[in-house]
Amino acid sequence: KIPEFKKASSLIAKIEAANYEAYFVGGGVRDTLLNLPISDIDIASSATPDEIQRIFPVTFDVGIKHGTVMVLQDNETYEITTFRTESKYENFRRPEKVAYVRSLEEDLKRRDFTINAIALDRKGYLQDPFNGERDIELQLIRAVGNPIERFREDALRMMRAARFISQLNFDIERETKEAVIDYHPLLSKIAVERIREEWTKLLLGRNRKGGIKFFVETRLFHMCPGFQNKDKHLVDLALFPLRFESSLSAWTSLLYFLKIDETDVDAFLRAWKLSNKEINDTKRAYHALHKRLECYWDYSLLFQTGLPIALEVEGLIAGFGLDNDFEGLLAMGRTIPIHTVKDLKVDGKDIMAVLSMQRGGPYLGKILEEVKQRVLNEKLENDKQAIMTFIEKRRLIYLDEV
Ligand code: ATP
Ligand code: MG
Repeated sequence: KIPEFKKASSLIAKIEAANYEAYFVGGGVRDTLLNLPISDIDIASSATPDEIQRIFPVTFDVGIKHGTVMVLQDNETYEITTFRTESKYENFRRPEKVAYVRSLEEDLKRRDFTINAIALDRKGYLQDPFNGERDIELQLIRAVGNPIERFREDALRMMRAARFISQLNFDIERETKEAVIDYHPLLSKIAVERIREEWTKLLLGRNRKGGIKFFVETRLFHMCPGFQNKDKHLVDLALFPLRFESSLSAWTSLLYFLKIDETDVDAFLRAWKLSNKEINDTKRAYHALHKRLECYWDYSLLFQTGLPIALEVEGLIAGFGLDNDFEGLLAMGRTIPIHTVKDLKVDGKDIMAVLSMQRGGPYLGKILEEVKQRVLNEKLENDKQAIMTFIEKRRLIYLDEV
């Protein structure tokens, strides 16, 4: 009935025609049962990656180590993962090697939570040995099998539990929660990139408050970079009245509620292993948020921030009890005299000419910076003649600096 599954059904039919089993699994099945839009379609099959590659002409081995092959069909890509167990865990992390199995139930057994351990066949029948559908109805996150064993196998699952509480607005079953309380220190064994992925999804979820409450109560937060002793601050973030619309606004607000000093932002975000671009954007947004809370945008702040990031910051303002004014900001974006230094009507050569200088040097950057600020503050028109006259008048000051 769901168009995405209908499209992918022929893929399963092909696998079945080669005498293997294949099912829809994972988040796609869960979200469909919840009437939520699905993000990706995952397929699990008894066929090994080799066997899948023999069935389909175009494949990519995206994660062959873990038994996953990507198949291209009708301009869509699908991930097909061979039924497997992950029996031998070391250091509380995902194993490097996996053992393939031929039974669906064995595969479902190694999945994290009952709501994620439901398989759907091509005809629309569910295979649900752990009663995931019941837990979806009860809105409960429950480990498949013994939660202590499951978290000892892979400690990231504790963080995934927190993420699903927020993302799905579910509760957590008591024993599963108690296991997180008891085993939270194991999270320190997990790569920060994997923790960050779940943490960001938690922040963006619709029940951020519930997710953070769990994250704090179970003491998982202790195992995260820069969160030690920040439980009160995290609760403030939980109570922020808006739902975050992007990871940029989520991370910017996180900095705000943790009261991270602007000079410490870089180290904090690096500890979380954000990319250089993310770090850059978040720094700019954070700076702009402070300024914007003091007063409205001016051209100079908008220039530094850039309109797309400024609009995200403006979106956060309502959460602080101020009125946001997107119209005003967009209007400023249209009338701002320059968007980059290149928009100035003079360049280094012009400056050298007017000062009769033969060589460039750091003085050029200083002059351009001053001109830029004056133009942005509307004290100087962005007009070649006007700027040349201004520089000419300050010739002595400038030449003194050379
Ligand atoms: P999303 O909607 O965010 O994609 P998802 O449940 O599909 O959520 P994925 O990370 O895409 O999450 O994983 C797909 C499936 O693989 C999960 O539904 C679950 O069955 C299984 N899985 C993922 N990570 C783990 C893990 N750490 N331990 C056990 N099973 C896992
Ligand atoms: Mg998924």
